[in-house]
Amino acid sequence: MSFHFLNQLPTPAEIKRDYPLPQELQELKKERDTAISNVITGKDDRFLVIIGPCSADNEDSVCDYVNRLTSIQEDLKDKLIIIPRIYTNKPRTTGEGYKGIASQPDPEKAPDMVEGLIAMRNMHIRAIKESGLTCADEMLYPENWGYVEDLLSYVAIGARSVEDQQHRLTVSGFDVASGMKNPTSGDFSVMLNSVYAAQHPHHFVYRGYEVDTTGNPLAHVVLRGAVNKHGNNTQNYHYEDLIRLCEMYDKMDLQNPAAVIDVNHSNSGKKFKEQIRITKEVMHNRQVSADIRNMVKGVMIESYIEEGCQKIGEHIYGKSITDPCLGWEDSRKLLYTIADMC
Ligand code: PEP
Ligand code: MN
Repeated sequence: MSFHFLNQLPTPAEIKRDYPLPQELQELKKERDTAISNVITGKDDRFLVIIGPCSADNEDSVCDYVNRLTSIQEDLKDKLIIIPRIYTNKPRTTGEGYKGIASQPDPEKAPDMVEGLIAMRNMHIRAIKESGLTCADEMLYPENWGYVEDLLSYVAIGARSVEDQQHRLTVSGFDVASGMKNPTSGDFSVMLNSVYAAQHPHHFVYRGYEVDTTGNPLAHVVLRGAVNKHGNNTQNYHYEDLIRLCEMYDKMDLQNPAAVIDVNHSNSGKKFKEQIRITKEVMHNRQVSADIRNMVKGVMIESYIEEGCQKIGEHIYGKSITDPCLGWEDSRKLLYTIADMC
């Protein structure tokens, strides 16, 4: 047998018991979840900005980053809801490379899944405690939901996972806003089918149990650009793309037709500075079309303290070790620009 069963992992209940979220922060999370839900359902016309590093590789620098967002959130609270990205699990195209703090609490050391679960939970709790902001994460491994379900205010299903049945069915049991990305092929119907699946009730096997779910009306799409058959990036944030999405949403019987635009990845071709221009274009398109304005509820921006990215082992504080990010000063300015253009 080629599997080696190394360690039995603690259950979500055990981890939550040992690393609990304090009561007052549970209240804060409820309030934030309700506000975000109201944006998705159209009861609140504020704009969501999901912003932060590609991967949350280091608790100190990630919390430093998230804490910088607090005063901006306060300043712009009438216009924006800022949801920091704390991405603890990274999808890897070839399976190689850093897979996130949940696998490798220290990017330079061997994987340690038990310590990883603790590191993932601790970082989210510390960020909420210090900043008052509940965060977003990618649910790369759907069975991890129970370890963080009381902490996350936004969940993304990545481009490489969105066609997978277990991911889709698991989202149908989440009680927070959940963004289903377009697949790397860029096919909108695959993405909308995943929203359909996530919005409906299901009966399936999850973590060794037979379960059923109620369906998640807060599931919506995230446009992240695509890769064509020649391996080149193609964008899907332009006016025509957004109108096409409105029309496709109209034809499907989905609740709360909503979209978040990921302005990095294949939309920027990972030219991270382009995120500024792309975000402004999205905000402009919301101004010229009421349909786009009603549908586009937010943007997703990759941003950290230092701009760009570095190799693992360079030890530059607050600089991404995965996708290149916008630096702090550009990010701060962009948040104010977004609020002005709302
Ligand atoms: C990400 O958000 O960092 C990411 C990996 O996104 P995608 O699934 O769109 O590639
Ligand atoms: Mn990324």
